[in-house]
Amino acid sequence: MRPIDLRSDTVTVPTPEMRRAMYEAEVGDDVYGEDPTVNRLEELAAEILGKEAALFVVSGTQGNQVAILTHTRRGDEVICEAEAHVYFYEVGAIAALAGCQVRPIPGHRGMPAPEAVAAAIRPKNVHFPRTGLICLENTHNRAGGTVLPQDQVEAVCAIAHQHGIPVHLDGARLFNAAVAQGRTARELAAPFDSVMVCLSKGLGAPVGSILAGRRDFIEEARRMRKLLGGGMRQAGVLAAAGIVALTTMVDRLAEDHANARRLAEGIAQIPGLAVDLETVQTNMVFFDITDPRWDASRLVAALEAAGVRCNAVGPRRIRWVTHKDVTAADCDRALAILQETLKAGPTSAGLGPVYG
Ligand SMILES: *Cc1c(COP(=O)(O)O)cnc(C)c1O
Repeated sequence: MRPIDLRSDTVTVPTPEMRRAMYEAEVGDDVYGEDPTVNRLEELAAEILGKEAALFVVSGTQGNQVAILTHTRRGDEVICEAEAHVYFYEVGAIAALAGCQVRPIPGHRGMPAPEAVAAAIRPKNVHFPRTGLICLENTHNRAGGTVLPQDQVEAVCAIAHQHGIPVHLDGARLFNAAVAQGRTARELAAPFDSVMVCLSKGLGAPVGSILAGRRDFIEEARRMRKLLGGGMRQAGVLAAAGIVALTTMVDRLAEDHANARRLAEGIAQIPGLAVDLETVQTNMVFFDITDPRWDASRLVAALEAAGVRCNAVGPRRIRWVTHKDVTAADCDRALAILQETLKAGPTSAGLGPVYG
């Protein structure tokens, strides 16, 4: 039987419609601005996100870091939530590429309090770095795919703008946040100066993300993308799948959210596990192992052997992510396998190293 892959929504494969669009894509050299399919994707994405212009980038990481490079100067401070992807998972790029330092602010379910952000903004002083940028993340990955309260988002953006500081939205899963609230991505992105969204996560495209913002910002971002080696040539082959992703794959995210809820409610019934149902707001389920016989790395290895793939995100914490290639029946099977595996207890044979 094929394994049920709950490691991430990045493991999705392109739909037949994407494959067809890729095969048929009209292309040109995008560094010359001559790829009609890339141009169409960028116009469509700008429209959907309510910004003047957009840029097709290789990955979410590249989109975020291009945005940070474009907004800041060397020596600036970037304020973000303490477990934000830009800080936690991007290889130190804020320091290594933009030459900025990070001011991490602990948040509640991924949202730093507006007062805490206000307090972290640097006053003008010869000793201090300049606060060059504030970043928020919606949905927030490490908080469990949680949706940021939009009133607090607006409060942070208003404070930033009073100080003349731009705000960037890491919206790798912004469409999940939108669908979960019955709002549009455009509304959620409205208070921000720039926004990055991933096409290759829940939306199922094979490659690519979008950075959107004002026209002059995107013009400079295009130079920064080139600096990072992200100037692509006949990229219309990839952009074609991105167009299908944006036009056909957003509404169905509701299915992934229903499946995550189904998993979470099942996990809540299994002795030896604990899940905070309030954090299960989109397509992720984070759960903790309370059964003392197990730790996360052993359980991940045992589940892998039984046909369920997933990741440990802490010594006793596991993450399950739903996506278009996981059905409700797969979720029921994953729950049954989880329950049986846990009950059987760990055997010493064939299990991977203990999580360090
Ligand atoms: C995945 C992710 C990114 C980076 O996207 P890649 O395409 O993997 O580089 C950025 N931010 C968040 C919140 C993510 O989950």
